[in-house]
Amino acid sequence: MGDQQRFDLVVIGAGPGGYVAAIRAAQLGMRVACIERATLGGTCLNVGCIPSKALLDSSERYHQLSHGLDRHGIRVGKIELDLGVMMGRKREVVKALTGGVGLLFRKNKVEHVQGCATIPAAGQVRVTGADGATRSLDAERILIATGSAPIELPGLKFDETHICSSTGALAFSEVPQRLVVVGGGYIGLELSSVWRRLGSEVLVLEFMDRILGPSDQKMAAALQKQLERQGIEFRFKTVAEKAEVVSGKVQVHCKTGEKSVVEQADRVLVAVGRRPVTDKLGLAEIGVEMTAKGFIKVDPLTYQTSVAGLFAIGDVIGGIMLAHKAEAEGVAVVERMAGEKSRVNYAACPSVVYTHPELAQVGLNEAEAAADHELKIGEFPFAANGRARAMGQTDGMVKVIADARTDRLLGVHILGPGASELIGEATVAMEFAASAGDLAGAFCAHPTLAEAIKEAALASGGAAIHK
Ligand code: FAD
Repeated sequence: MGDQQRFDLVVIGAGPGGYVAAIRAAQLGMRVACIERATLGGTCLNVGCIPSKALLDSSERYHQLSHGLDRHGIRVGKIELDLGVMMGRKREVVKALTGGVGLLFRKNKVEHVQGCATIPAAGQVRVTGADGATRSLDAERILIATGSAPIELPGLKFDETHICSSTGALAFSEVPQRLVVVGGGYIGLELSSVWRRLGSEVLVLEFMDRILGPSDQKMAAALQKQLERQGIEFRFKTVAEKAEVVSGKVQVHCKTGEKSVVEQADRVLVAVGRRPVTDKLGLAEIGVEMTAKGFIKVDPLTYQTSVAGLFAIGDVIGGIMLAHKAEAEGVAVVERMAGEKSRVNYAACPSVVYTHPELAQVGLNEAEAAADHELKIGEFPFAANGRARAMGQTDGMVKVIADARTDRLLGVHILGPGASELIGEATVAMEFAASAGDLAGAFCAHPTLAEAIKEAALASGGAAIHK
């Protein structure tokens, strides 16, 4: 094997976990190759975060034109939807960003190897290209960042035309007249919003008795109300058992308690979670330990698997399955390889549901916090915030949860305009182990939406001014 095929680190998968790890490792002086079987950028850039947000932004503009502007004294004429152009813009956004990863690889001298990787033995990676040609790489260390894929339900096999995963639902060629969405998690809700805004009737079927299981219950219930006002219908404690395509339509057989119903739809989106992608790697053969659900087991600090020299990060190890968590692990794992003491502070990892209004959160929800702490909670509605009033976007509120004894911040939850950006302030506060008093005492420019966070923090101490 030639010297040029020896690497300090071989990364498998170029999603946000893998490509970020590869770049950081190269910055730290390692000789790095990153293997990707599809397009650079992984789920996030190609069929996840970015295309969904591109469509959420486009569809929100369309919806605003037909629903939100008359209150501002703006009357528009006939509005037409050109779905082809909207999808084309989405593809351009994706292309620009995935191309950007390639540029960053070249700039940082990360060797991009195209093909599907297997690990025949610790320290070795075999790559099979699209043409069947194979190449072997020797690696001091191997980092698995192969991500996740949508879970398929046995009775609802994906055909990606009528019965779709999120990938299919990001690329419908026409607006379905009726869309049934199985799963009330963030992916189901974001895509329900896109298609509802563009004109679909949307029914969400959810197994539990509420949407967004891990979110703060009160905030999730408030978001559900908003989505219902937008015309999205929810049916809880409902199991989708089977779907059949009959004459171009889908019949979804579902059960609520003892009651069985067949729902008719043009398209079905199944968004019931994601499973780790490990199938082609050959991990069982080399003795890598996995969890019962098929995630790769790792040491929580070093991310080393049960096999020396083999590491894993991102969705494939489970936990919070979000892009910024994968990125943070990608940085931490390679910095630790380089001898630094980096670690990921999962307690300050935010998450966002990009509906309208957005729901963003960092830290514990009320039920989680109440399990170990006596709480003080402050809430502040956007209806009492000057900027939200000026914008005409007064739905939602901020909820600050702190420890009653120490005042330490335990969680911040924001349902409202710009929540995805506002949560950054709360995230920094959590990262610095701030108290509710710190948040309440910091200046906010006036008039801004951020004043609602300050007021909620003040309210936790009974000192809100505008409430
Ligand atoms: P991935 O991004 O899944 O990348 C893994 C890569 O490994 C893939 O490119 C795959 O082709 C490659 N690979 C797999 N096996 C092999 C092999 N054997 N050889 C070579 N290459 C291989 N997260 C957020 O934080 N914010 C959001 O708004 C958000 N929105 C989302 C919307 C949707 C519709 C979806 C589906 C997901 C969304 N996510 C979001 C989740 C986010 O996309 C993932 O958490 C993130 O992509 C995980 O990164 P990763 O690097 O672990 O894996």
